[in-house]
Amino acid sequence: MSGGRSLPPRRRRGWSTDDLRHGNLLRILRHLRDHGPSSRNDIAAGCGLAMSTMTDLVGELRSRRLVHELRGVRRSGAGRPARPVAIDGEPWCALGIEVDLLGIEFLGTTVGGRELWSASVPAPLLHSSPEAGWALLRDALAEQLRRVPAGSRLVAVQVALPGYVATEPGTVGWSAGLGWDRLELADRLTAELAAEGVSPVAVAVAHHCHLAGLHAVRVELELPLPHVAVYLGGLREVGGAVVVDGSVFGGAQGGAGDIGHTNVDPHGPGCPCGRHGCLESLVGLTTLLARSGVVPAEDAEALVTADPKAALGALLAAADAADPQVRAVLAEAGDFLGAALDDLVGTVNPNVVLLGGYLGVLQRYLLEPVQARLAQRTSVSSFAGTQLVALGDLTPRVVAGAALAARDACLADPLTLTSVLSDEAG
Ligand SMILES: [Zn+2]
Repeated sequence: MSGGRSLPPRRRRGWSTDDLRHGNLLRILRHLRDHGPSSRNDIAAGCGLAMSTMTDLVGELRSRRLVHELRGVRRSGAGRPARPVAIDGEPWCALGIEVDLLGIEFLGTTVGGRELWSASVPAPLLHSSPEAGWALLRDALAEQLRRVPAGSRLVAVQVALPGYVATEPGTVGWSAGLGWDRLELADRLTAELAAEGVSPVAVAVAHHCHLAGLHAVRVELELPLPHVAVYLGGLREVGGAVVVDGSVFGGAQGGAGDIGHTNVDPHGPGCPCGRHGCLESLVGLTTLLARSGVVPAEDAEALVTADPKAALGALLAAADAADPQVRAVLAEAGDFLGAALDDLVGTVNPNVVLLGGYLGVLQRYLLEPVQARLAQRTSVSSFAGTQLVALGDLTPRVVAGAALAARDACLADPLTLTSVLSDEAG
């Protein structure tokens, strides 16, 4: 997860048996997160732990209601039924927040992933100043805190927004759409939550496409968890994410995955970022609408800002009606997209490239030229196994990804964020 306002460092004095124990707890939680309910034998083998150690650690996690035992599964020929261990997390609440240009989405879940509530709050955030935007977010969050169920405690909050976020300490570096620049969002949220009595809590902020990519790879991709996956999607803009072993790879300062602003054509059209010929300026939804003549060029940007799904629907309908200009524009867009992906596949060598957002919706017009562009690359054995997968629907991927990242944050720091609730012996 990128853009984190980290809690006080757990330990900086050197290696101790507590560190070892903490590391082993994380391995067990990670194993259960990635493999689902597992027998104690499988956990011990998967985490490289002795059974006696593992039993003690599972007892600790049970006492914090982070794991529980499912009902026994009787195997043929076996005596005692096996009781798989699974993530529990019922008393702990994780909150995903998507700050969009026109409103704020909230999704509260248990740390185990059961949905508790969701809400859409309209808010005029487009080109808001940092202070005006902060006030809108703060007030909306205060309302949502009342919805945390009695008996549940909020332990992690993840914000997604359309902008660059520096990893430490969770500062929004620049968001053109929101008009925010150098806003110490994670620190402010942490202080606001503390004032509301929510502490300790893990707070993090990340680019919205990072979280969309996390959800796409972890939840939507119908393949075993890939070692390296690259996600490319977005709705009003082209954004991306690199997901390694089920976590977002942020790079040195949280900026990794900025695929929309790769240089595809130095003589190409101007991009909102200030460069020329970025992938965004060549295949962004506004460009596609304007160039295909589906709406007058001067209206394209306003339509994409106000109602990107309607803009995409108009483009798709024109393509499905075999409008030759639209088809030609999409074929060319697929070629540009393929060029950017070709470089990316060569640089990162992912197992999977996932297209989501509007690129996934337009897949039947984009995949063929993309695959043609990738053919040279994938003819080399190192790249031959790269799978190209498109997600065709527009699920609320960003807010769901934010909630998923908030759950991960709790599983990554269980001893700080949760407390012992019972005397489970394991
Ligand atoms: Zn650009």
